[in-house]
Amino acid sequence: MSRIFAVANQKGGVGKTTTAVNLATCFALAGQKVLVVDFDPQGQATSGLGLEKKNLPRTIYSSLFNLNSPVELIQETGIQNLRIIPANIELAGAEVELVEVSQRESRLRRILENVRKRFDFILIDCPPSLGILTVNALTAADSIIIPVQCEYYALEGLSQLVTSVNLVQAGLNPHLSIEGVVLTMNDIRTNLSQQVVNEVRNFFQDKVFRTVIPRNIRLAEAPSFGQSIIQYDIRSTGAEAYTRLAREILKRYE
Ligand code: ATP
Ligand code: MG
Repeated sequence: MSRIFAVANQKGGVGKTTTAVNLATCFALAGQKVLVVDFDPQGQATSGLGLEKKNLPRTIYSSLFNLNSPVELIQETGIQNLRIIPANIELAGAEVELVEVSQRESRLRRILENVRKRFDFILIDCPPSLGILTVNALTAADSIIIPVQCEYYALEGLSQLVTSVNLVQAGLNPHLSIEGVVLTMNDIRTNLSQQVVNEVRNFFQDKVFRTVIPRNIRLAEAPSFGQSIIQYDIRSTGAEAYTRLAREILKRYE
């Protein structure tokens, strides 16, 4: 049985793409068959896994309008067991163009229905908004992983996100659950970070993963080399943390 995770939070820069790319890599290295779906017009999961955004023969965009068969969209990465359906700026048009098509919220779900049997895990990297793309991701997913940055306004906007999850549960996807909240960019040297960790745990209780991702410069450097943290610096605290997070999740599905 495959699992589809939407990595989502409408707040920008909280670690969605970093989490999607590195968690997917860690799953793949643990022997799982994994697919990353880049569902953000910024295409940062695409470039972060070493693909050239400008020269993509096929992206997720076209198949949203049934121009490609989904299997043709799947492309190799430098990592065994890890594939990607890439995206680039073309996808920005979908926000507007999807308004015109029928069943616009379940387009991604239909695409993934055909490909999910090939994979153990599919991770969808969402854009920083609660628009139609994120709604498509939540409709296609079994569960949502919510990265939350350890900063002062961490909880701001999260009730809006939870409301969106509830709306999708009530209509388009009753099976959607919260896989977990992952605290990112934690700076153990500051009281503020610890305060935020406590606040988020109070709010989301046992929905928060035990693994907390530290702030680690190596995680920020890796994407510019088109590499996951495991390829870029396997000894870094970032690599260690994402490996632990992957184990924490894999345990649930053993
Ligand atoms: P967007 O909303 O724009 O899609 P995002 O939520 O996907 O952003 P990322 O792109 O993953 O967030 O991270 C934002 C920035 O912070 C990036 O430059 C990334 O390299 C950096 N970053 C992410 N996680 C960490 C970390 N744990 N330590 C240090 N830097 C990090
Ligand atoms: Mg991103």
